Amino acid sequence: MVRRLVALAAFSILIGLTGLMPAHSAEPAAKRLFGAKKDGAAMPAAVFGSYAKGCVAGAIKLENDGPTWQAMRLSRNRHWAHPELIATVKQLSRDGKKVGWNGLMVGDLTQPRGGPMLSGHASHQAGLDADVWLTPMPNKRLTYKEREQLSATSMLATRNGKLTNHKLNTRRFTKAHAGIIRTAAQYRNVERIFVHPTIKRELCRQFPKRPAWLKKVRAQFGHHYHFHVRIGCPKGSSGCKPQRAVPSYGCDKATMDYWFKVAYGPRRKPKPGAKPPKIRKKRDIRMSDLPRQCRAVLTASGNLGSQANTVLSAYQPVGRVATPSPRPKK
Ligand SMILES: [Zn+2]
Repeated sequence: MVRRLVALAAFSILIGLTGLMPAHSAEPAAKRLFGAKKDGAAMPAAVFGSYAKGCVAGAIKLENDGPTWQAMRLSRNRHWAHPELIATVKQLSRDGKKVGWNGLMVGDLTQPRGGPMLSGHASHQAGLDADVWLTPMPNKRLTYKEREQLSATSMLATRNGKLTNHKLNTRRFTKAHAGIIRTAAQYRNVERIFVHPTIKRELCRQFPKRPAWLKKVRAQFGHHYHFHVRIGCPKGSSGCKPQRAVPSYGCDKATMDYWFKVAYGPRRKPKPGAKPPKIRKKRDIRMSDLPRQCRAVLTASGNLGSQANTVLSAYQPVGRVATPSPRPKK
C-alpha cells in the first residue's frame, strides 16, 4: 500500500513537472523545419501570423525571368510569396519602365511556406515582403552563376575609402531610383518601404509637399543596396496580423537627428576596465511560437508554384493612389 502511494505520488509529481515544462524546448527550431521545405503548401493562399512570426499557405513562386525582372540568388529558393505580393512585384517591374527603371533585380521574397529562415531576415516570414535591388536590371539575361555572385551597388557615399552612413552618393541615386521607390509606395496595398536613412532624407528633401506615399517610406538600418517592399494583410487572410499604421512622415528633425546623431553617431569609447555589454542571444522561434495553422502549412502536400498565372489573375490590378504625385523639386 505504502509502495503504491509512493509510486502514485512520484507519478503525479512527474505529471506536474511535464505540465510545467515549456513545450517549446522539446521542439526543433522552426527555421529548420521551414528552411527545409522545397515547395509551397497546396492550400488556398493565406497568411498566418505576422511579418516576423508567421507563415504562408498557397504561396507561389516568382519565375526566375520575366520581360521586366530577373530573380537573383536562385540557390536560396526564396522567391515564393503570397500571390498578391507576386502580382505587386510584377506590376512594379512594369510600372518601373515609366519612371526610367529598366526592370527589377529581385532579391529575397519568402521561403516556399514562409516561416523563419536559417540565415538572414527577421521578417520576410509571411510572404508579404520583397527585397528589390537598388540596381536596375541589365539588358542581358544573367547566368545562374552571375545571379549568385553579382553584387548590388551601394547608394552611400564613401569617406576615406569606406562607405559612410551619413551621406548619399547623389550621382548614383538617380531620378529613376527615387521614381521606383515612389512608384512602389503609391500602390494601395503597399504599407511600408524600408530604405537607408540617407535615402529617406533625400526623398524628404525632394518632396517638401509631403505626399501621402512618402509616409510609407521608412528609414531603416542597411537598405542601401536594396529597398524592401511590404504589403499589408491580403483580403481574406483573417489569420494575418496587421502592423500598426506608420506614426508620422519621419522627415522631422528629431527623427533625422536620431538616425544621424544617435544611431550613426560617434561611438562612445568604453571606459577602461569596463565589462563589455552582455549581448543576449535571441531564442530561436519554435513551432509553438507560431500560429497553430503553421503546423498545417508545414505538413500540407506540396505545390511547385507553377499555377502562378491562373492564380495571379485574381489579384490584378494592384491599384494606384488616385491623386497624382507632385513633381520632385529640382
Ligand atoms: Zn528585406
